[in-house]
Amino acid sequence: MSEELLINVTPQEIRVALVDNGVLQELQVERSGHRGLVGNIYKGVVRRVLPGMQAAFVDVGLDRTAFLHAADIQDDSEELNGETDIETRPGHHEVRNVCTLLHEGQEVLVQVIKDPVGSKGARLTTRITLPGRYLVYMPFVPRIGVSTRIESPEERSRLKDELKAAIPADEAGGYIIRTLAEGVEHQDFVGDIDFLRRLWSSIRRQLENSSAPCQIHSDLNLAMRMMRDVMSDNIERVRIDSRETYEAAASFCQRVIPEVADRMEHYSGERPLFDLYNVEDEIERALQSRVTLKSGAYLIIDQTEALTTVDVNTGGFVGRRNQEDTIFKTNLEAAAAIARQMRLRNIGGMIIIDFIDMDDEEHKRRVQRALEKAIQNDRTRCNITQISALGLVEMTRKRTRESLRQTLCEPCSYCHGRGFLKTAETICYEILREIVRESRAYPAERFVVLASPMVMEKLLDEESTSLAALEEFIGRPIKVQAEATYTQEQYDIILM
Ligand SMILES: [Zn+2]
Repeated sequence: MSEELLINVTPQEIRVALVDNGVLQELQVERSGHRGLVGNIYKGVVRRVLPGMQAAFVDVGLDRTAFLHAADIQDDSEELNGETDIETRPGHHEVRNVCTLLHEGQEVLVQVIKDPVGSKGARLTTRITLPGRYLVYMPFVPRIGVSTRIESPEERSRLKDELKAAIPADEAGGYIIRTLAEGVEHQDFVGDIDFLRRLWSSIRRQLENSSAPCQIHSDLNLAMRMMRDVMSDNIERVRIDSRETYEAAASFCQRVIPEVADRMEHYSGERPLFDLYNVEDEIERALQSRVTLKSGAYLIIDQTEALTTVDVNTGGFVGRRNQEDTIFKTNLEAAAAIARQMRLRNIGGMIIIDFIDMDDEEHKRRVQRALEKAIQNDRTRCNITQISALGLVEMTRKRTRESLRQTLCEPCSYCHGRGFLKTAETICYEILREIVRESRAYPAERFVVLASPMVMEKLLDEESTSLAALEEFIGRPIKVQAEATYTQEQYDIILM
């Protein structure tokens, strides 16, 4: 495996592409205008306690007040599970009465665990965590946990021993060992601990010197975060096309991951970095619903708010003779492509995959295994069910950031996100009905219809007899006029 990280920086945005053997696998975009807030730490003020919801609204200086649930409030007396799963933050304890924990006007140190979405404010926790490369630091919780994604019991206990030996005696907090730590040694932890403790003490200094509501710390920017998170040994090279970001990243690496500092490179070539790897074309394709596979088969990916469906189709006619075999191969090819597309598009939540029906049980098992194998490359946790009798697989993929489409697109203003426009014919009939309605309500001498050129043409051509019949019926003339700026669904009827 040869993975490269490509970092494209402009004043407006940072884009990071993870490329494996020249093929784009993952893309993250961060716009300076709206960087995510997850991980940011604030000194907030409790504005309202909501006993009915066991929660409180906290002002952290953002447009909308943020939301703090009682379950996300750290209590000194609470017993934490030693084996903490970093994906599901500690929080399976009994929910305590929010009124005993918070009161209006109280200042609280909080961290964002969920970005504001739509009309919902950010979600907060008082369980502060600082992610490092191998560890997550919990300054208030003196425990050690291991990510559940490290499965081997021997490795889990080895890592714990290595970590215990690396933690300084004066440490008041605790650490969670991240998945990436698999196989690392004592000294790797020492560097990470040192970085996290320095970061925490700078946060504490800032906390003392500021007044609420205000931001105390923002998570590392996307370039640094990606380096911290994915600089596993697989990454052979990091190419950054901005001198400034390159220098910042280099100094970050010196402090935290010195062993990879020599894999970083400032790209100053003439051709845009993403063009070198066809990343722009791949992004364009990742926004389409149709994905064509090498064999000519294709996927249709339909993303709705509630769930995503993936339909697998053979391209063209499948001969009788090798039908079963062709279907099996198409499904195998699709399994790998689906895993990659879900990762690239960053689609979260429920995903229903409709493979082409297979009769052979062994074929089903192998397609299932191919999908299981393919999702292992994904850093975001996925789960899949067995292929059902109808050839359906339910896949869940943890929702992390916004999907690629949510990041780059907005609903179409022509069709209002339906993905369809009413036909010119439908609009013609709407117009004709509207004229009947208005001719009864208002005493006009004549009517002028303003419509898009397409609709006007139809009214004067195919629908001209309907129009003439209507003129006769209402006893008044109807004039049709094209309005070039109108969209197909737009029209006005003017009474004169
Ligand atoms: Zn549209």
